[in-house]
Amino acid sequence: MTEPELHPETRAIRAGRSDNDTALAPILWATTTFVTPTVEEGRRMATGVGASRFYSRYGNPTVAGFEDAIAQLEGAETARAFASGMGAISAIVLGLCSSGDHIVAQRQLYAGTQLLLQTACPRFGIDVTFVDATEPGSFAAAIRPGKTTLVFAETPANPRLDLVDLDELGAIAGPITVVDSTLATPLSQQPLAHGVDLVVHSATKAIAGHNDATLGVVAGSSELVDWLYSFAVLQGANASPFDAMNGLRGLRTLGVRLRQQTEGAAELVTFLEAHPAVSDVRWPGSPSHPQHQLAVRQLVHFGGLVTFDLRGGLVAGTTFVESLAIAQLATSLGGPETLVTHPASTTHVNLTPDELAANGISPGTVRLSVGLEHPGDLVADFGRALAEVDRRTGR
Ligand SMILES: *Cc1c(COP(=O)(O)O)cnc(C)c1O
Repeated sequence: MTEPELHPETRAIRAGRSDNDTALAPILWATTTFVTPTVEEGRRMATGVGASRFYSRYGNPTVAGFEDAIAQLEGAETARAFASGMGAISAIVLGLCSSGDHIVAQRQLYAGTQLLLQTACPRFGIDVTFVDATEPGSFAAAIRPGKTTLVFAETPANPRLDLVDLDELGAIAGPITVVDSTLATPLSQQPLAHGVDLVVHSATKAIAGHNDATLGVVAGSSELVDWLYSFAVLQGANASPFDAMNGLRGLRTLGVRLRQQTEGAAELVTFLEAHPAVSDVRWPGSPSHPQHQLAVRQLVHFGGLVTFDLRGGLVAGTTFVESLAIAQLATSLGGPETLVTHPASTTHVNLTPDELAANGISPGTVRLSVGLEHPGDLVADFGRALAEVDRRTGR
């Protein structure tokens, strides 16, 4: 059921309910298996695609509700949920590429994706070329006709929030184009409408939105997602029904959370841009972002992710994140709690110094995920932590 006349926030509240009976909230189908009425029915479910009442590694009604909701919000024919964002991404890479194939990916990527492409792909004879996706034409220029099977993009990208022009990516013919749209969410951009083939999310982040579910999802044409399905069933990174239920619950409030997080980020960015201990504040909503015009064209909500550098390097970076009292030092994003990470020592710790520099990460880089606290309390917290940085670095 598509309801194109409704706004995305409204569809996020109505979607994924077809299997709810009369329950208003999603029903948790906490079962691994289902009674099969006949042998013929069992044969059909075991050999078909997307059976949601056969065995839960193949599919599950609670998970199917979440998949339907994401497909509808992304304007996709279908979607498949996974146990995590990396479960979804590894299914795309290993389910769609074979030995001898070539992948083009952007350099600035979620660190898990980057490591998968750098370490697992060569073991399976899959060659990967990394490009600077902020350069127009860089993806297309790296494609090897007949060899390149996948073009992988992430926008906005971890951790420096660079953007990829979705129209340019969608215009690429030949290889399958994929966008990791986690930082945008389905309410902020719909890559498929730009001609991209597959969109993937770590629903662990803003979609589930409460730091209580590890969940991933891929949406696209039935042809591509069904092709992935046969690998996914063997890969075994299927979504847990409980996490899918929390994913559906999160979707209901995603619109209002995105608006509040965007508002909080705007206040913090204004404060950080004016502070002498801070440099290079990156937020797609700020006119200082190098791709702000693209952000205005492409994103409905600028979101709660902000990255900035502290003058004073490692001491400043670590002092700052350890001195915050309301914002907490934890790896994730998109939830109600404001979180900071220190990429150089955590998410990106496995990268070499050259790779860190290529990703725009310095020892003083801080990534911030603005939560739902009152923005005034966050500004005060950041002010106190920056005063501590000044004391410690003797500025
Ligand atoms: C967190 C994240 C992932 C990985 O998702 P998990 O659910 O942690 O496996 C992938 N891409 C982006 C952009 C992310 O932020």
